[in-house]
Amino acid sequence: MHDRFGVAVIGGGPGGLAAAIEARRNDAGRVLVIERNERPGGILPQCIHNGFGGDIFGQDLPGPLYAQRFIDEAVQNGVEFQSDTMVMGLDSDLTIHAASRRNGYIALKAGAVVLAMGCRERTRAQVRLPGTRPAGVFTAGTVQRLVNIEGYMPGKRFVILGSGDIGMIMARRLTIEGAGVVKVIEILPFLTGLRRNYVQCLRDFDIPLELSTTVNRIIGRERLEAVETVRVDPELKPIPGTEAMIPCDSLLLSVGLIPENELSLRAGVELDPVTGGPKVDERMATNMPGIFAAGNVVTIYDLADEVSKAGYIAGRSAAEYARNGHGGGGDTVDIVPGENVRGVVPHRVNIREGLDTGVVLSFRVSRPIEGKAVIEVMHGDTLAASVRKPFARPAEMLSVHVKLKEINRSDKNITVNVRAADGE
Ligand SMILES: Cc1cc2nc3c(=O)[nH]c(=O)nc-3n(C[C@H](O)[C@H](O)[C@H](O)COP(=O)(O)OP(=O)(O)OC[C@H]3O[C@@H](n4cnc5c(N)ncnc54)[C@H](O)[C@@H]3O)c2cc1C
Repeated sequence: MHDRFGVAVIGGGPGGLAAAIEARRNDAGRVLVIERNERPGGILPQCIHNGFGGDIFGQDLPGPLYAQRFIDEAVQNGVEFQSDTMVMGLDSDLTIHAASRRNGYIALKAGAVVLAMGCRERTRAQVRLPGTRPAGVFTAGTVQRLVNIEGYMPGKRFVILGSGDIGMIMARRLTIEGAGVVKVIEILPFLTGLRRNYVQCLRDFDIPLELSTTVNRIIGRERLEAVETVRVDPELKPIPGTEAMIPCDSLLLSVGLIPENELSLRAGVELDPVTGGPKVDERMATNMPGIFAAGNVVTIYDLADEVSKAGYIAGRSAAEYARNGHGGGGDTVDIVPGENVRGVVPHRVNIREGLDTGVVLSFRVSRPIEGKAVIEVMHGDTLAASVRKPFARPAEMLSVHVKLKEINRSDKNITVNVRAADGE
């Protein structure tokens, strides 16, 4: 057993860095970030487009610069780093088992742990695309890495499956770098990425988007030669006779992100089957004492700024736990998704008497509401909060602030509903 740390953070992306900074600021003692890559920053060094930092820095920054601000701040605050080190296990007594090329196997003990391992992309196998298995089928993040970090263009004529943000951003990037992007196709009848990315990446570059359409067949022997597309009905079943052949040498998949939680599961952390991430309370505490979670490991946020904000909360809570073993305790109220709502974070809230700071509930809708929408937060049968929004789209996370002092009974759940505002 080697050193002992106040707080150990697993993962050095924007979630983990924010958690580490905030843990140091809250007197956690020694704070360590363990990162399997050679450098901290998470996925952001390959996200060279703008769109980061609007909320936190009031500036529109590219991903690498956004990450660097956090790295610099972490260093200034005395955060320690152990890069090129893969965490392989975490015990319930907060012992971390890791391995690195330089040090081999190491075991570390921490007063509290923050899980910040981010997410990974859904692959061809996970969306079950039929056809041959030629070269030229990539996930969007792989192409992002090849083009933005390795400086390598992996194809000339791309079709993009899925209207997720990384896919749309890569459609623009590939076009700027001289590759052809024939079209983006999306199985759902609505966009799954942010509207701003549709405007800035597809519309401004004249790249067509075709909704309610998917890839029916992948064609090619050594290298992809074409994809056959097909329109789908409202149940997402292919409509015979609507097949179309698109010659191309590359298919880029932007079909969703999955929180990276194998480590969490082995540590006994309870996961939410909807988000795929740990169930957390308003302090980002999991069910395991001393284990907190932050960022895309919990749920897929639409903006990295939101990831960092969750990191701050987790870091503050982890520091508190490391200092005095405070585990929340007391009564909690469960928060459950209601009408047209998926995966609310946090999953439960601690009731502490007299506390009136409130809690922010973040969630996505299942179906888009293009007109005015109303979010209703019910505590049992009582309306605890009601917020109107100009629209509600699955791609764009919604949040609502609820005062805890209004929620003073633990025998009733909190339910979140989103519906079209009547008569507007
Ligand atoms: C391929 C890909 C491309 C993306 N592109 C964009 C984009 O263009 N724009 C955008 O806004 N968002 C993008 N995202 C979403 C991105 O996840 C968030 O914006 C943001 O980076 C999330 O921050 P995070 O700290 O939660 O996770 P990450 O930034 O993913 O950081 C997690 C870190 O944990 C490390 N880690 C994981 N497991 C271990 C372990 N066992 N031991 C040690 N270290 C570990 C990883 O190496 C990684 O550095 C992308 C995600 C992926 C997967």
